[in-house]
Amino acid sequence: MRIGIDLGGTKIEGIALGRDGTECARLRVPTPQGSYEATIAAVAGVVHELEARVGGRCRVGIGHPGALSPATGLIKNANSTRLNGHPLDRDLKAAIGHSDVRLSNDANCLTVSEAADGAAAGCKVVFGVILGTGVGGGIVVDGRPLTGAQAIAGEWGHNALPLPHDDERPGLRCYCGGIGCIETWLSGPALQRQFALRTGRELRATEIAEAALAGDADATTEMELYCDRLARSLSVVINILDPDAIVLGGGLSRMSQLYTRVPERWKAYVFSERDSIVTRLMPPQYGDSSGVRGAAWLWPEA
Ligand SMILES: [Zn+2]
Repeated sequence: MRIGIDLGGTKIEGIALGRDGTECARLRVPTPQGSYEATIAAVAGVVHELEARVGGRCRVGIGHPGALSPATGLIKNANSTRLNGHPLDRDLKAAIGHSDVRLSNDANCLTVSEAADGAAAGCKVVFGVILGTGVGGGIVVDGRPLTGAQAIAGEWGHNALPLPHDDERPGLRCYCGGIGCIETWLSGPALQRQFALRTGRELRATEIAEAALAGDADATTEMELYCDRLARSLSVVINILDPDAIVLGGGLSRMSQLYTRVPERWKAYVFSERDSIVTRLMPPQYGDSSGVRGAAWLWPEA
């Protein structure tokens, strides 16, 4: 039996999966705010409760924001900043009470889940994208997440927007220190801000997508701009990684027009004949549960 934990900024979700991927138990608790130690204790509490429910010790996978730095052994780049600078793996193993614990970035877990038994099942190379309050990404090859030398493999959100138009330069300063990062164009708050700047209307990202589908002209124009920026950004990934599938996750993955408009747009940017591109762009089969399921699948052999 394997347990997956999705350690988020507002909630800690846990799941126990059987050998064939069947969900056996699930638990969700709020993430303690402000204290690193309380967060560790809460994660261990969810693991122990799930182990009690399924009747024995399990292998545990944990998806978390940011990355464990290979150089220092400490968490870096986490938007839940209280995790940064801590040896999260060591502290979690100590609190859980055994060392059958694997950690990976939350975008990697989404990708592992969808490659294991989700939308991209059977695909050899999968790029997973989180489009939400931030923009993250993960790479899975043959079912395994690619970590990388700096543990930043797949972190495309802090590259600059490719092929910027004149009115897209220089772009906004990002919290990471960069200027015009993909995240500053493609996150939910970024889409909302762009729309408000152009039209003076305050709509949330998913509301803009819905308005476009209902025929709203302002929203349609904005979504075309968004899809073109996403296509430019993903074309760079395709040129380097050439994945079989790209699976979107996060709140903006519910915008249905992305799955038709973006592959149409990326034909102009990918280094291949226009009609020969076979990389598929897909919504996540498990929706919001992909992260927690992928954490459990960090133990494919369990
Ligand atoms: Zn950035």
